[in-house]
Amino acid sequence: MSEKGLLVVFSGPSGAGKDTVLKRLMEKEPGIRLSVSATTRAPREGETDGKDYHFLTRAHFDELVANDKMLEHAEYCGNCYGTPSEPIEKWQAEGCDVILEIEVQGGAQIKAKRPDCVSIFVLPPSLEVLENRLRRRGTESEEAIQKRLGAAKAEIAKAVLYDYIIVNDDLETAVDEMAGLLRAEKRRASRNQEFIERML
Ligand code: 5GP
Repeated sequence: MSEKGLLVVFSGPSGAGKDTVLKRLMEKEPGIRLSVSATTRAPREGETDGKDYHFLTRAHFDELVANDKMLEHAEYCGNCYGTPSEPIEKWQAEGCDVILEIEVQGGAQIKAKRPDCVSIFVLPPSLEVLENRLRRRGTESEEAIQKRLGAAKAEIAKAVLYDYIIVNDDLETAVDEMAGLLRAEKRRASRNQEFIERML
């Protein structure tokens, strides 16, 4: 069977619980690597440089883009975000599934560049739940919350472009569904042509 890891685009609006789903998934499933994005956004309380994000100045970010060091990049709510290319091929070759937690513009760029990727969109149970989660987080101003809610609606409209959707109502169910999707994707005949040819 194919030993190359999957490239997984994982998107969803702010407050859908992407981080929580991924954290739990990685506890349960070894062999998953999470890409650490670069951003020009300021760190939130509790965030660590190099772990949560590579926090960069705009000039440094632009330099990496100009030198073709980003697999994709996009602007979201006034800040730049991008995926450093370097570790991804290596992890996949080692057999690890690599997850890119990115917004929808970046997701579309990855789909175009790497059509073999798997794309998964995580939804909140409702917009009301999403708004409550954003408020409870308490890290953003009212203006930023309104901006993120507007962005969330625009993002949710793009969910149909993804291969799969997951509703994050109950965390364990969402995580089990995601693990199941990744397992099924690895069994796709098109990913295992070499295995079939070798058998013959
Ligand atoms: P936050 O500021 O809440 O950490 O992230 C805002 C949005 O940017 C989220 O939807 C997150 O998934 C997305 N994001 C994080 N890293 C990247 C990246 O490398 N590329 C793109 N296109 N979006 C990203």
